[in-house]
This record gives sequence, structure tokens and C-alpha cells, in this order.
Amino acid sequence: MSELTLTPTTNLLGLSREKMEDFFLAIGEKKFRAHQVLKWIHHNGVDAFDDMTNIGKALREQLNARAYIAGPKVVSSQFSTDGTCKWVVRVASGSCVETVYIPEGKRGTLCVSSQAGCALDCSFCSTGKQGFNSDLTVAEIIGQVWIAARHFGNVPAKMDRSITNVVMMGMGEPLLNFDNVVDAMNLMMDDLGYGLSKRRVTLSTSGVVPALRKLGQVTDVSLAISLHASNNTLRNQLVPINKKYPLEELLDATLAYMNGLSDNKRVVTIEYTLLAGVNDQPAHAEEMALLLKGIPCKINLIPFNPFPYSGYERPSNNAVRRFQEKLRRSGFNVTVRKTRGDDIDAACGQLVGSVDDRTRRSARYSAARALDSAPEVPTTTTAGAA
Ligand code: SAH
Ligand code: SF4
Repeated sequence: MSELTLTPTTNLLGLSREKMEDFFLAIGEKKFRAHQVLKWIHHNGVDAFDDMTNIGKALREQLNARAYIAGPKVVSSQFSTDGTCKWVVRVASGSCVETVYIPEGKRGTLCVSSQAGCALDCSFCSTGKQGFNSDLTVAEIIGQVWIAARHFGNVPAKMDRSITNVVMMGMGEPLLNFDNVVDAMNLMMDDLGYGLSKRRVTLSTSGVVPALRKLGQVTDVSLAISLHASNNTLRNQLVPINKKYPLEELLDATLAYMNGLSDNKRVVTIEYTLLAGVNDQPAHAEEMALLLKGIPCKINLIPFNPFPYSGYERPSNNAVRRFQEKLRRSGFNVTVRKTRGDDIDAACGQLVGSVDDRTRRSARYSAARALDSAPEVPTTTTAGAA
């Protein structure tokens, strides 16, 4: 049996299949009840035991006394003219995080947050600038998928799917909230959950190497690595965790993860945010081509998405194209991420939420802004459709 603490009331939304089975066994019921309830929750979006028509009255009463089903509270939802949706949800710690849905052709990708804020402080990321408040619970992570699926009408087994892919690329560093992220990803892939294939669930990390090595032992989801620099000197400035786990170690762990996958056709996505005049020069592309030699990968270039007082600029379209071409000529598959949901600030690195910082980072950031004697820029997202 896995570890399960029976609290007076347990939120069943956050229980993986194994933990749900344990819950039902612990209250003297058979395992198949767990499966029925999982389907009600994730396939049908039901949050009231009384709506579970194949569960007898006595058990429904017992469930009402011992459990509940609740996702994080939706504070606002915004819908872009290009089909992008953004939900701001409040988590138990009081902070708000964001979830973004991006439709593109037949694909619908949900970008899910794993933490309120982020402790890793990458220099070009607005989440990092807000400091860190808390890890999200399993219910808060899978709850973002649950909320979006409910919005689209649920029943994933039957509908032509609205959510075809999930990427752990919202706020936070997923590998620093390891157990909860793994449980939530398992629910995304479980047939009793959202039934997504392992190829369609992607974890993105800035390089927490020991956790990446551990990840390979417990899951085989797709992997994205936030590279952003082709040498350690520059990466130390942009992605400070690089000082602890430099590029050689990160690429070694990446290769080990890829080699550990049962299907050897998959490639790792290398994310590279292009910052004008910082890491977007032809020499960087050349250095990157050498660095990635031998790594089965595709490269996704993300032109920097500006936010106030970041100190960085987005390169011109020409500079982006030149960078892409240079890598292509070295034999890499290189795509450029389109900016989506511009009218609702839903692009990568622009997710703001509202984080009650427990580090002192956001204070330093605000102080720097104040020294600039510029007018205060609101950091919370306004409610209502764009
Ligand atoms: N913490 C994880 C996942 C969340 S960030 C990670 O860093 O991988 C998702 C991606 O958006 C990362 O590659 C991140 O570096 C990138 N990103 C962050 N801020 C950005 C910005 N302002 N413009 C463009 N990309 C950004
Ligand atoms: Fe954290 Fe990722 Fe932002 Fe870096 S880029 S601060 S790891 S969320």
C-alpha cells in the first residue's frame, strides 16, 4: 500500500489511482469503487457525491462525511481572440497561479503551474522575479487540468479532445515539487484520469540535476530542458541553478533520461529564450550546435516575452530567423515558439499570478523598480474576459 493519511475530510481530487484505492480499502470498500469515483471526477468533472448515480446511498453518505472534491478557486478566466484561455486560480497558501490553454490546429495544449512563484530566480523570468511562496498540492496541480476540462465539457474518453497535451511549463520549477508533480502527471496519463499518452505530457526543467536523475526512475513523460545559454559563464548569469549543476552535468543527466526511455524514438525539447544582444548572436548558435551534438533533440526558440523592468529586449524577427537558420544548417530541427494570447498576457514568462513571496526577492525587485522612480506597475491580473 502507498502512504495515505486519512484526514477527517480528504480531497479526493488529489488522489492518484493507487491512493484512491487505498482510501476506499481504508473505509472498508472494494477497489472498484475507487475506479468509479475517479471516472466521475476526471471523466465527468463531477464534484458532488450525490451526482454519482452508480454509488449507493449509504456509501454516498459515508463519502459526504469523510471526503470532498475541490479544485483551486478560479479567481478569473480570460479568453483571447486567438482561442487562448487563461485561468488564474487561488491556492491554499493564498497565492494565485496561472494556467494557460493554447489551441493550435488539432492540438490543444494546457500549460500547468507547479509552484506559487519560483525560487530559482532566472534573470529573464517574471515568475522568478516574484520569489517563492509554496509548492502546489496534487489537487491544485491536477485541479488545473480538471478546471480546463470542465470548461470544455469533459468526458475525455468520448469527446474529440480539447486538451491533447499538457506541459509543466507554467509557474514554478516542477522538479522542486517532485512527488506532487509525479502524482499529478500519473493522473494525466491514467485511463481513469485524462488518458494522455506519455508523449503528450511534458515536464520542463531549468536543470535540477539530482531530481532529473530520480525522475527517470519513476516516470517516462516527455522532457524539455531550459537551456538558454551555450556556455557556463553565460548560463550562470541567466539560470543561476547552473552554478550548482553546470551544463556538462545537466546534459549528462538529460542523455541518461532519454536513454532510459523504452521507446528510443523520442527526443528532448531544448528550450532557448532569445534575449537581444545577450545570447542571440551567431557565435552562440555555433557554440550551441557543438554542445548539443549527440543529444537527440529538437530546439524550440522562444523570443523573449517582455515584462516591466526585466532589463531585456526581444530580438528582431530577422535576428531570430538568422539564429534558427544557423542551427538548421548544423542539422537540428528548430522551431520558433509563436506568441499566443498576447492580449491576455498569457505568453511564456509573463505569467504573473500574485505570489505572497516568502523569500526577499520580490522586495529587492520592487526596491529596484522604486529606485527607478517609475510609476508602480500593477502585478495582479484583472478579472474578466479580455
Ligand atoms: N521552471 C521550468 C518551467 C517553467 S518556465 C523551466 O524553467 O523550465 C517555461 C519556459 O518559459 C522556460 O523555458 C522558461 O525559461 C521560459 N521563460 C521564462 N520567462 C520567459 C520570458 N520572459 N520570455 C520567454 N520565455 C521565458
Ligand atoms: Fe523558475 Fe523556470 Fe522561471 Fe527559472 S524560468 S525562475 S526555473 S519558472
